[in-house]
Amino acid sequence: DELVSQIAAGEVVERPASVVRELVDNALDAGARQVTVRLAGGGVRLVCVEDDGCGIDPGQLPLALRRHATSKIASLAELESVATMGFRGEALAAIASVSETTVLSRADGQPHAFLLDGGTGELRPAARTVGTTVEVKELFFRTPARRKFLKSDGTELAHCVEAVRRHALARPEVGFAIWHDGKLVEQWRPAADAAQRLSDVLGRDFMAASLPVAWEGGPLRISGRVGLPDAARARADQQWAWVNGRHVRDKVLGHAVRSAYEDVLHGQRQPVYVLALDIDPTLVDVNVHPTKIEVRFRDSRAVHQAVRHAVEQALAAPRA
Ligand code: ADP
Ligand code: MG
Repeated sequence: DELVSQIAAGEVVERPASVVRELVDNALDAGARQVTVRLAGGGVRLVCVEDDGCGIDPGQLPLALRRHATSKIASLAELESVATMGFRGEALAAIASVSETTVLSRADGQPHAFLLDGGTGELRPAARTVGTTVEVKELFFRTPARRKFLKSDGTELAHCVEAVRRHALARPEVGFAIWHDGKLVEQWRPAADAAQRLSDVLGRDFMAASLPVAWEGGPLRISGRVGLPDAARARADQQWAWVNGRHVRDKVLGHAVRSAYEDVLHGQRQPVYVLALDIDPTLVDVNVHPTKIEVRFRDSRAVHQAVRHAVEQALAAPRA
């Protein structure tokens, strides 16, 4: 089972940022309002994610690190309509198999917390407010070949920050803080709305160089911003899309945006976009890839058309 977990880890955990992504997913699934990420050495030495979510019941705690232990879906039918980020129950097990992992958690209604040592399986009483802290140390320490593929601390840190940014953009009501080697790197306070969070995360310049997107039709809602075609510099790394709050890289969406820009973007420039799609969960399959970064729409043509239309509408709107 250890080996199976390590193999699964190869699919789920590529670098510290993958750990950040999974742990923050879990924090948000637990209803956290504040998520604090502490990193050391680019996240290779330490990724620690603290939340004020519902916590894990002491009886459930040892299960959290076991493969295919998920508290989030009970049946195959539910898999059709998953609303949570996690549902496969393999992230923590995979992470624990390639690191030194501990989970400190106090469930709502419990008098104190418990600390679970992922190495020994030992569970002992500990102190904490309600919520969960997962600590992941020395990533890939038993698989040096994998560790060799990691880049410099600075590069790994940038990927970790980007992983949190993707969550922060999708969840304006949640506060986020990122620390690296004891220094505060980013802090996004809970925001009043999506526009405020976009401005907090991407800056006023981004807001000035982009247009709002708001479109609704049937089971689909599209919101966010797209870059002005004549903005001075479009950056290829400013392309974000979420489907039901889950960050995705999707060819259909990317292509739809580019189609909308076709007549106005000249040369090789890439459009800038931050788009959130909210769609009836039964119309999208999120169980395509272990890292859940890919989705499959039941009707991808309809989604393509809608996104293209939404972006064209945004680009055509009279500018203030
Ligand atoms: P999944 O998220 O797919 O269910 P994970 O391996 O990420 O699987 O987590 C396993 C289980 O551990 C979750 O289903 C959840 O019950 C519990 N868990 C993990 N992290 C947290 C957290 N931060 N707060 C509350 N419960 C958590
Ligand atoms: Mg999870």
